[in-house]
Amino acid sequence: MELQETSYQIQGVDLLNVANEFGSPVYVYDADKIVKQYKKLCNAFEGVDLKIKYACKALTNINILKLLRQQGCGLDTVSIQEVLLGLEAGFEPSEILYTPNCVSFEEIQKAVDVGVQINIDNISILEQFGNEYGSTVPVCIRLNPHIMAGGHSHISVGHIDSKFGVSIHQVPHLLRVVKTYDIKVNGLHMHTGSDILDAEVFLIGAELLFNVAKEFKDLEFMDFGSGFKVGYRPGDVTTDIESLGKKITTRFNAFCKEYGKELELWFEPGKFLVSESGFFLVRSNVIKQTTSTVFVGVDSGQNHLLRPKLYDAYHEITNLSNPFGTKRVYSVVGYICEADTLAYDRQLNEVREGDILAIHNAGAYAISMSSNYNSRFRPAEVLIYKGKAHLIRQRETFEDLMKTQVSVEI
Ligand SMILES: *Cc1c(COP(=O)(O)O)cnc(C)c1O
Repeated sequence: MELQETSYQIQGVDLLNVANEFGSPVYVYDADKIVKQYKKLCNAFEGVDLKIKYACKALTNINILKLLRQQGCGLDTVSIQEVLLGLEAGFEPSEILYTPNCVSFEEIQKAVDVGVQINIDNISILEQFGNEYGSTVPVCIRLNPHIMAGGHSHISVGHIDSKFGVSIHQVPHLLRVVKTYDIKVNGLHMHTGSDILDAEVFLIGAELLFNVAKEFKDLEFMDFGSGFKVGYRPGDVTTDIESLGKKITTRFNAFCKEYGKELELWFEPGKFLVSESGFFLVRSNVIKQTTSTVFVGVDSGQNHLLRPKLYDAYHEITNLSNPFGTKRVYSVVGYICEADTLAYDRQLNEVREGDILAIHNAGAYAISMSSNYNSRFRPAEVLIYKGKAHLIRQRETFEDLMKTQVSVEI
């Protein structure tokens, strides 16, 4: 999004026109930005056999999946439903990684039947898997190296109390199970959380994985998960992808030499690919002055964007309707009957009732975490693709709210 003279635009499309045409609230995504992020990642890891698997739980609109598939990207899925969405978008089963946790064995069997790459994250399920499939279905194993990524307790999954992955300390047990059932382990995986800034921390985890990898003879790939950080606040420190790429590429190639085989290097970013592509346009319904603050009440809330409430996440906000208005301090709140503050103490260009605000970083974990709380409709989604605005999801209607309700004689 950029300010062109008096209007904020994406690929030359005026965002106020998008809000007028499709209504508010509305999610808007910049296809060019997604492609740019994908290419940036590919370029950073030149010199290895790189495969990117987009972690689609971040944003599951089928057009986003199609866009990334067209670029040569694969898919990381966490449920059988995401697998089905991937197939719907045209991915080959072999391009899809299925990384569930705490799902039933029946669901894993369904994924096997479809033919996707299975990633197992606990020994109990691995034993059932071995019992059922022996060496006939190759499997990846998710390990937990117990490294802490960043300092944000909500999103680090590598620590000791985490439910994710097989502990690196259980490798002897793991090897017994693999040997007993003659399981073909074709990949090793780790995903330590969402805030890896530091290549050194990342490499510590990688070293642990390399060490374990020597015990597995059938490896075809190693998957280092995600953890690429994007900026949310102005001035945020973000992952230096070029420097990380160089360091990991060098180390990975050295490991492959040692291992005696060229392995594929996989990553599964969500946020990095789609977060910054998204802007959530909301309308200011009311300006409410209290003794302590000035609230902007908008036509949305935690039902559409949960991250501020759930994670204390910061999302930058721009007043699209008044780009040169005098800056004033506001708290932006939703219309849900909860304390659903979207932003505290923000300096915004003066906000008037009816103004359209753009909430930034709305591509990842935004609409995908939305709900119908307060019986509100989920918003529409628009994709700016090749300089044109395309509606890619309709705003819900009252019929959608009633669709699954069953009325009985009362
Ligand atoms: C959520 C998730 C990701 C993506 O994380 P981001 O922070 O969005 O990059 C990758 N892998 C797995 C297994 C995940 O659960």
